[in-house]
Amino acid sequence: MIIRDVQFVISAVKPHQYPEDALPEIALAGRSNVGKSSLINKLIQRKNLARTSSQPGKTQQLNYYRVNNGLYLVDFPGYGYAKVSKTQREQFGTMIETYLQEREPHKLQLLVIDIRHEPSKDDQLMYKWLKHFQIPTCIVATKADKIPRSKWDKHIKMIKTTLEVEPGDNVVLFSSETGLGRDQLWAIINEAISD
Ligand code: GDP
Repeated sequence: MIIRDVQFVISAVKPHQYPEDALPEIALAGRSNVGKSSLINKLIQRKNLARTSSQPGKTQQLNYYRVNNGLYLVDFPGYGYAKVSKTQREQFGTMIETYLQEREPHKLQLLVIDIRHEPSKDDQLMYKWLKHFQIPTCIVATKADKIPRSKWDKHIKMIKTTLEVEPGDNVVLFSSETGLGRDQLWAIINEAISD
C-alpha cells in the first residue's frame, strides 16, 4: 500500500464529533503498551503520528486518521492500564460499546495482541464483545521479532486457542520493527473496505 496522504483528523470524545463523510473505518484495539501506536505508524509510514494515542488514562478518545482520503484508521484507547479509575473504565466501556453497536462505516476491527504472551482476560473480553456484535475481526500478533521464528506457529496457536478465534477471522503475524505482515494486513484491510 502506497501512502500518499495521512491526516490526523480528531480525538473524538463524543459520537457527534466522529467524521460525517462516511469513509470506511478500520478500528484498532489492544491493551496499553501492546504496540498499537507503533503498528499504526508502520501501516501509515510515519514515524510518530500515532504516538499520542496511547497515553495511559486517556480512556475516552477515539483518534481518527484519514489515509489516502479513502479510509479512517480509528485508534481506540489502550485498555488494561492498572491506574485508571472505575469511572474511566466504565466510560471506556460505554464509548466502545456504542461505537461497535452503532457505527455504520465500521468495516473491520483489528485486535492487537503481543505474540509473546497469552491473551489477557481483557483481550478475551474484547474479542467476545466483538463477536457478540458480529464485527469482522483480524487478530494482529505483533512484536514477532521478539521471539524466534521457530516459535511463531506455537504462539499463534496459543493465541487462537485462548481467544477461541472464529474460523472466519484472520490472524496476522506482525512486527513494527521489521515490517513483517504490513502488506498482508493492508490486503486484508483493502478487502474489508471493498465490499
Ligand atoms: P501502545 O501503547 O500500544 O501504543 O504501544 P507502543 O506502540 O507505544 O509500543 C510500546 C513499546 O513496544 C515501545 O517501546 C515500542 O518501541 C515497542 N514495540 C512496539 N511494537 C514493536 C515491535 O513490533 N517490535 C519490537 N521489538 N518492539 C515493539
